[in-house]
Amino acid sequence: MPSKGENGAAANEPAAELALNAKALGALLDLSDALHASDDDQTDIVRRLCGGIAPRHPGSLIFIAEEAGEGMLSARHVEGMGAAVIRDVCLEWPTEHRLAPFAAPSGTCGFWRVPSRQAELLGPSWKTLCAGLDAGEIVLARIGADTAASLILGLLPVRRAVLREAEVRLLQYVAKAMRKSLAAAGERRALQQENRRLRLAARVFEHAMEGVIITDADQSIVAVNKSVSRVTGYSEDELIGATPRLLSSGRHTAEFYREMWRTLHERGHWKGEIWNRRKNGEIYPELLSLSAIHDEGGDVGHYLAIFIDLTLQKEAEQRLSHLALHDLLTGLPNRESFRARIDRALRRGGRHAVLLLDIDRFKNINDTFGHPEGDLLLKCVASRLHAAMRPQDFLARLGGDEFGVLIEDVADRDAAGDVAHVLHECLAEPFRVDRLEVGMTVSIGVSLSPGDGTEASALIRHADAAMYEAKRAGGANSEFSVPGIGAEVRRQLEIESDLRRAIERDELRLHYQPQVDLASGRIVGVEALLRWMKPGVGLIGPAHFIALAEETGLIVPIGEWVLNEACRQCKVWQESGQPGLQVAVNLSVRQLRDEGLADKIGAALARSGLDAARLELELTESVAVGSMEGGVATLHRLRNIGVKLAVDDFGTGFSSLHYLKRLPIDCLKIEQTFVQGVTGDRHDAAIVNAIVTLARTLDLQVVAEGVTSEEQIAYLRRIGCHQAQGYYYGRPSPAEAIPI
Ligand code: C2E
Ligand code: MG
Ligand code: MG
Repeated sequence: MPSKGENGAAANEPAAELALNAKALGALLDLSDALHASDDDQTDIVRRLCGGIAPRHPGSLIFIAEEAGEGMLSARHVEGMGAAVIRDVCLEWPTEHRLAPFAAPSGTCGFWRVPSRQAELLGPSWKTLCAGLDAGEIVLARIGADTAASLILGLLPVRRAVLREAEVRLLQYVAKAMRKSLAAAGERRALQQENRRLRLAARVFEHAMEGVIITDADQSIVAVNKSVSRVTGYSEDELIGATPRLLSSGRHTAEFYREMWRTLHERGHWKGEIWNRRKNGEIYPELLSLSAIHDEGGDVGHYLAIFIDLTLQKEAEQRLSHLALHDLLTGLPNRESFRARIDRALRRGGRHAVLLLDIDRFKNINDTFGHPEGDLLLKCVASRLHAAMRPQDFLARLGGDEFGVLIEDVADRDAAGDVAHVLHECLAEPFRVDRLEVGMTVSIGVSLSPGDGTEASALIRHADAAMYEAKRAGGANSEFSVPGIGAEVRRQLEIESDLRRAIERDELRLHYQPQVDLASGRIVGVEALLRWMKPGVGLIGPAHFIALAEETGLIVPIGEWVLNEACRQCKVWQESGQPGLQVAVNLSVRQLRDEGLADKIGAALARSGLDAARLELELTESVAVGSMEGGVATLHRLRNIGVKLAVDDFGTGFSSLHYLKRLPIDCLKIEQTFVQGVTGDRHDAAIVNAIVTLARTLDLQVVAEGVTSEEQIAYLRRIGCHQAQGYYYGRPSPAEAIPI
């Protein structure tokens, strides 16, 4: 509780006042000292100040507020009676001009005493505040300012009291002391921050990954950090006082350094990659950034060099570019590098050979032993090829089981052929896979510049076409590129890929050609002839794609489709009133080699419901002769099912009639060129006669193909030929166009 003596009414009790003031002064001085020395920030100082004054003025409202802009004060700390009141009241901060009449008697700027009855002059909220506290006066002191806001110390003695003169002076003193404390605290903080910044800078300098070298204007080194020693191998002692020339590698010309210094002087900085030398003599790449540091006078006082050792980065780059240009499995250069290397050689001019190697039937190896073994084998092949080649030749893996060789400055075709021969030879020894010995051959295609092209792509394409030819010839050999073959091969490849999809896309069609019984003149059978309805092209005859289908094996699924379709259609005809009608289907040698052929035919018959005896299979003579070994059993199986067999184009190629006895043949179809000549050419007539006689003797049916005239028919009938087929009776047509 405040004693009476502290109120204005008891102000003239000198002894008590003196004692109080001395005590108060002592306490405040202590506080001021404490604050002055403290490391506390402004908030703490403010809090402690209020807390220190409050006991001197029991019950009074003491606050510290800051100017919050727009003429308002916001309380930062409040002690005493009015804490609750001040929080509810928003105080205006009047202009200094309005405050001027209330300056303290001593005239101290920034210290005001406003009697409560005039509080309104400061603003309505002050009046409210005074009324709420029953304050005697308002004492305000500016105690300081930080960058953001100025702080105001306010004191409102309650119960109409006013401050005594001594207290006013004390408060003035305190405000002044506070100003100093705050300023000192601010400086201390700034100093601490600066120290922290410097310490940090020193640590950064010392521990930076980058090497940092500072030289004076004469390029004498004055400071280096740890990284410089780590990278260069020189100690700090060895470097200080030396010049950066100590590190120069000798790799750059004097002109290079001149240019570097010129840029540094003109622009104040230079950046680039340079080679330097470590203490151990090793030369390394670094990314260097140089800056000239000017003193206050504008002269260059120091140079700053910051560098990064690029050794690891360069190694990583090299590893990456190696990966981009090499094949992961074998470590050989890849297709990209192969191309680049060829192009480089071509730019140089001269004669170069490109060899493309493809392992024969590599797919079988992968299928048989699995991919890991396949990969292993590819590695072995790669290393044998590599060992067999001369160092100046360039070997690359182009992908899969394909390798490429570039022979630069090759003398002639023969020299390239010799290299191909060496490569074949080096693979002659069998490879060991999975405890087995596996023989391996390659097909090699060779192209030569400039004849086969003057660009890598052209040479590779031609070598590829030649390699394809070598494969077609059975593999294990080499072929040289022949001009024009590339286009043909590409065309074939396109047809092949289209043909592959022809079945699923439903582009295959069967046309039928009537076979007429010469005695009765009635249609007794039809031959099914394949057509390909190619979108954008139209109907394509078998001459254009059967050979390719045979080569690629596509004839197997295509032939199966033909069989099913022909049997189905024949059954339709039979059911529509031609019960005895027979259908003939052409069979290729490849189909005959298919072990599943008999089953497929059986299935086609079963599916269609056609009687086996109504299906005739036509084999060309070469098929019949060539199939002596493998196909004989199949032909017998077919015969056992009840299917008939005919020899197509009979008379074109037989070297022996032996097979007629060995094979279960039912019918001979006379090659149409002989038939067409029967009425004009003596020899053709003799051949046709002989064939008819042979057939009748062996008890075989005989069909004349390609009849186009009445006279031919009359002749054939006269010599006893059973049936005829040809444009005279009708061209091969879709089923619905056949007059059955
Ligand atoms: P091929 O089996 O000897 O068929 C007779 C060929 O002679 C047919 O040619 C037919 O259109 C043609 N032709 C028929 N009468 C006459 C005529 O009076 N004058 C002339 N100049 N030609 C006539 P196409 O249809 O072009 O078939 C050619 C060959 O394609 C066939 O000869 C056959 O060996 C083969 N072929 C056709 N379809 C298939 C099939 O489904 N599978 C297999 N493997 N080969 C087939
Ligand atoms: Mg035929
Ligand atoms: Mg024929």
